[in-house]
Amino acid sequence: MQKEVAIVGGGVVGLVLAKELAKHGVDTTVYEAKREVGEGANKASGILSVEGLKQIGVDYRAAILNSLSGAVLYAGKQKLTIKSNETKAYVLDREIFAKVCANEAEDAGAKIIRNAKVGKEMLDQFGTDKIIVGADGVVSSVANHFDFPKINNFILTYKAEYEKPNISDVNSCELFFYDAPKKFFGWTVPHSDSVLEVGIGEWIRTRRNSYSVFSSFVTNPIVSAELDGSRRVSGLASIIPLEARKRTVKGNVLLVGDAAGQVKATTGGGIVFGSLCAKTAAEAITSHIKKGTQLSLYEKMWRSRYGLDLKMHRIIHGYYSGMGARGSAMLFRLAKLFGAESFLSEYGDMDRPSLVVKRLFIR
Ligand SMILES: Cc1cc2nc3c(=O)[nH]c(=O)nc-3n(C[C@H](O)[C@H](O)[C@H](O)COP(=O)(O)OP(=O)(O)OC[C@H]3O[C@@H](n4cnc5c(N)ncnc54)[C@H](O)[C@@H]3O)c2cc1C
Repeated sequence: MQKEVAIVGGGVVGLVLAKELAKHGVDTTVYEAKREVGEGANKASGILSVEGLKQIGVDYRAAILNSLSGAVLYAGKQKLTIKSNETKAYVLDREIFAKVCANEAEDAGAKIIRNAKVGKEMLDQFGTDKIIVGADGVVSSVANHFDFPKINNFILTYKAEYEKPNISDVNSCELFFYDAPKKFFGWTVPHSDSVLEVGIGEWIRTRRNSYSVFSSFVTNPIVSAELDGSRRVSGLASIIPLEARKRTVKGNVLLVGDAAGQVKATTGGGIVFGSLCAKTAAEAITSHIKKGTQLSLYEKMWRSRYGLDLKMHRIIHGYYSGMGARGSAMLFRLAKLFGAESFLSEYGDMDRPSLVVKRLFIR
């Protein structure tokens, strides 16, 4: 039976897994392609719920850029304002967050080999002697090499940071539906009162260039007023998986995080569920090594713990992305009428739609 674990990919999810395994005394090595962990991580945003961060269990405080207590959702001229009295989420610096995760993994006893891109030869070398975990992101070489079922649904993104924008509420983000992008949305997220992140995501099958969709999105009257007089300081494109793979364990190989597609289809957020699934993988691997249980336990465990919420995110995404501009404006009007703003301000949960539905029934 294998005793060692090779994690391919030192993103947050691979690093959370490494820390958990090392804490259980499992011999763990992370192979990270980049020269330093977190390099390039800011191509993605870093909004994480307070509750989700608590469950991940990493000391994220050094990475906090801003706190969020509300969101404004736009569909054409209709808007919904959700505002809580408490901080609901933090905006993190993704590079610093990854470094904190790496430090905690190394402190727990995991080894991290930087500048180590794992290719076909190395995967063949690992063979069946080690447990191999693909934590290598959305374009996973591990998943391809071991012929895991494909992910067919993606969102292409483009985001940029602007200095000296006009921000009306530094603790609120904005989401724009049915404006420029198709089957996803545009967003603005304040990093501070002097830096605003602006981004868009669009379904890959519309075959448009994400930068050109972004260029059209920033002409939206609300966004352009916020950016008036500001200076753009960055701009990066990326990709988000919209569905989980049909299978995430094959023999001695497991997939976690974006490589497995453990992402909220509503927003593309993958750190909370990816990390919770990584913690689940650590339980299954430890139990395999110490008690001889099957590694396929991981698949059963993560699907039973998080499968329902991830499915609900997919259903909600399917619902909102199938409605046209008029349908969504109508939905917003109805939602307002039925008190959605105050309900979501009090009971909204970014990660767990199942809890929101439960609270709705209780109410
Ligand atoms: C624009 C955008 C905004 C987002 N906003 C949010 C958000 O606000 N909140 C949120 O929770 N999520 C957000 N996400 C999603 C989030 O970024 C991902 O879900 C998360 O990064 C997944 O982590 P991971 O560790 O699985 O993969 P990754 O972060 O992609 O890490 C994979 C790592 O593997 C390494 N690697 C790849 N191939 C190899 C190889 N062959 N050998 C060795 N190493 C390799 C890479 O260098 C990388 O370090 C956003 C994504 C995008 C694109």
